Amino acid sequence: MNLKDDPFLNMSNSIINSYIKDWQASNKKIIGYYCTYIPEELLHAAGILPYRIRATGNKDTELADTYMVRFTCSFVRATLDLALKGVYNFMDGFLICNSCDHSRRMFELFDLKVFNKERIDKKIDRFYLSIPHIITEEGLNWYLKEIEELREELELAYDCEIPNEKLNHSIDIYDQNRKLLRDLHELQIQEFPKITGTEALQISMANASVPKEIANEELKRILKDLEKKEEMDVSSKKRIMLVGSVVDNIDFTQLIENSGAFIASDFICFGTRNFHDSLDNIDSGANPLKDLTKRLYYRISCPRMMDDHENRLNFLTEEINNANIDGVILQHINNCDLHGCDNMLYTHELKELDIPVLNVDRESYQADTTRMQTRIEAFMEMIK
Ligand code: SF4
Repeated sequence: MNLKDDPFLNMSNSIINSYIKDWQASNKKIIGYYCTYIPEELLHAAGILPYRIRATGNKDTELADTYMVRFTCSFVRATLDLALKGVYNFMDGFLICNSCDHSRRMFELFDLKVFNKERIDKKIDRFYLSIPHIITEEGLNWYLKEIEELREELELAYDCEIPNEKLNHSIDIYDQNRKLLRDLHELQIQEFPKITGTEALQISMANASVPKEIANEELKRILKDLEKKEEMDVSSKKRIMLVGSVVDNIDFTQLIENSGAFIASDFICFGTRNFHDSLDNIDSGANPLKDLTKRLYYRISCPRMMDDHENRLNFLTEEINNANIDGVILQHINNCDLHGCDNMLYTHELKELDIPVLNVDRESYQADTTRMQTRIEAFMEMIK
């Protein structure tokens, strides 16, 4: 079996897919969101399809550049560009949070420039979630309050109720989804893997673009298909861990995997950060909203959490051991201070542990491929 031609994986190449069209045909709502800190389960319990916003394939940001200066994150600009072109018109709402200043700015720009009548002539709802930047008891209560308010806003906007039973059901479905993604990840990190880093990224992006019930069935099918697939011999390649800013385009991972590397693991949003948590079992069912908030808040963090670098480094070093990593590629999108600062710290910390590191900056859509390829190939040669 060849995952290259799998229709589910290939859904990651486009923004819209047939499941979204079916969803809309049955008059159900879709809300686009940016960040792993969004409580998807809450939207699911309201009967809404949460769709993770991507800019996959968008090579130019000409329209967005009118409103956002060039030293804004090119991922955010690329998504604004698609919004201005009307590519996200299939959505009924947007849920944005203060992941970083760039995505926070998007909330205002969506309001000012996208949702005016010239661009979109249908009603689009806007929701905003404010998430603390440090991990404390007070922060948890703040976050919980924000999520409680979001529940009320969704109930009001869509004339629905989100009782605890529904929320518990949605949490079960999402727990199952993360478990399936972890099972797939095991097939990537093993000595003789069954999926590549590029395929893992495709699976994750497709998974975030369809209803979770369908995603779960597809992931089960892929896992079953993989039982029959031969293991890959990657002994001639260097085992790499990919770390940093959001990657929503397989051109970048292919570039790495075509340069003598095998991406055995990662620490990115469309990757381990999405499913790595050991808190699935905290669900007591009595207060599912609090359980959900705890899971989001206490799981492995993103650099937006200012005081949690040490835990991230611990995760990184554990995963380096688990996946038998030969070298780490740290990457961040130009002007992304959050990942840029974390990567700078990792560079020193990993070098002290004698782990080879390449630290690169890039644009969301990798245009200058030759320069990047040369740097990656040189890094592969450097790894003993
Ligand atoms: S890549 Fe960095 S700047 Fe861009 S959205 Fe993510 S955290 Fe924000």
